[in-house]
Amino acid sequence: MDAAANPMEDETERLRRENQELRAKLADLESMITSLPVPIAISPDATTEHIEVNPAFAALLGVDTDFNISATGPDAQRLPYHICRNGKNVDPQDMPLRKAGRSGQEVHDELEIVRDDGIRYHIYGNAKPFFDETGAVRRVFGAFVDVTDRKRAERALYQSMDALSKANTELQQFAYAASHDLQEPLRTMSSYAQLLERRYGGDKEASEYTAFIVEGVSRMHTLISDLLTYSRVGAASELKRAPFQLGNALQWALLNLDHSLREKKATVTYDEMPEVIANESQMTQLFQNLLSNALKYKGDLPPLIHVGAESDGDEWTVSVRDNGEGIKPEYKDHIFGVFKRLHGREVSGTGIGLAICRKIVENHGGRIWVESDGKNGSNFRFTLPK
Ligand code: ADP
Repeated sequence: MDAAANPMEDETERLRRENQELRAKLADLESMITSLPVPIAISPDATTEHIEVNPAFAALLGVDTDFNISATGPDAQRLPYHICRNGKNVDPQDMPLRKAGRSGQEVHDELEIVRDDGIRYHIYGNAKPFFDETGAVRRVFGAFVDVTDRKRAERALYQSMDALSKANTELQQFAYAASHDLQEPLRTMSSYAQLLERRYGGDKEASEYTAFIVEGVSRMHTLISDLLTYSRVGAASELKRAPFQLGNALQWALLNLDHSLREKKATVTYDEMPEVIANESQMTQLFQNLLSNALKYKGDLPPLIHVGAESDGDEWTVSVRDNGEGIKPEYKDHIFGVFKRLHGREVSGTGIGLAICRKIVENHGGRIWVESDGKNGSNFRFTLPK
C-alpha cells in the first residue's frame, strides 16, 4: 500500500506540519516579545504566582530576565525594588497583573518603580487577561510604557509654573505698594508748590514754574493711579468668576460713560449678549475702556459704535467696532503694552487702558486684538471661553 492511499498517515503528517508551524509562530512571537523595547510581563496562569518579564522590563527593574517578579508565589525572591502608586507602596495583591488574573478584567495602572540603587521609573500601561474555551483565565499579559521622562518634564513644568505664579504675586504686591506709597510724596510736592505760588505769586516766571510743577505732579498722580488699577486687576489664579449676563456689564459701562456719550453725540448699538462665566466688574471695566477709547479717538463724524457677540465653537467672540480714526496695522500689537500710546498730550490718557483690557481678557483665558486699516475705524475683538 503506498503512502497516498493511507489516510491515517496523511492525517499524522498534516498534524505534524501544523504542530511545526505553530511552534515556529510561537518562537517568532517569543523573540518579538524579547526584542520589543517596551516593558512586557506575562503570567502563564490566572494565579500570577509566576510572572516573567522581557529584557526591556528587566532592565527597568534592575533584574535578570529569568527573575520571577511575582512577590507571592512559592518561588518568590526578595525584590530589589518596590512598586509605588501615587507615592504609596503597592500591596502585591493590588498589582495590575494579579488584579487582572483575579477579576478577569483589563486593568489600567500607573506605577513607580523605586529601585534599591535609588533609580526610579514611572510606567503606565495595562494588564489584560486571556481566556480558555471554558471562559477561565488562561494567561495574563501586561504591556507598559516608560513615562519617566514625560513625568519629569511635567514635574519641572509644575515647579516653574509655581515659581512663576509666586514671582507674579510678589511683583503685583510690589507694584501695588510702590504705587500706593508714591502718592504720598506727590501730595506733599503739590501742596508746597501751591504754597510757594500763594506766597511768592507776584513773580510771573515763578508762577509759571510752580504751575509746571503742579501739572507734572498731577500727571504723575494719574500715571500712578492707572498703574494701581492695572496691578489691581490681579493674577488669573485670584480671579473670582461666576455665571452672569454679559449684557449687564455692557449696561454698567454705558451708564458710567453716559455723560461722554451724550457730549460726543454717540450712537451705540449692540447684539444680544451671551451668558458667560467671568468676573462681572472686570468685564464692566473691559467694555468701559474700549468704549471710552472709541469716544476719545473718534474721527470727524459723531461716533457710531456697535458691540457684537458671536458664538465660535467653544468660545464667544465679542467686538467693539467704531467709526473713529482707526489704527495703523503696524501698531496693532504695540497699543496693548503698558504706557504705550499713539497720541500725545492733545488727547488725555496714560496708555494703560488697553494693557488692562489685555490682562483682563488673558486672565479669563481669552485673546484680544484689533482689526483696522488705519482709516475706517477700529474693531476691537476679544474671546471668552464658554
Ligand atoms: P490711552 O487711551 O490712555 O492712551 P490705551 O491703552 O487705552 O491708552 O490706548 C493706547 C493707544 O491706542 C491710544 O493712545 C490710541 O493711540 C490707540 N487707540 C486705542 N483705542 C483706539 C481707538 N478706538 N481708535 C483709535 N486709536 C485707538
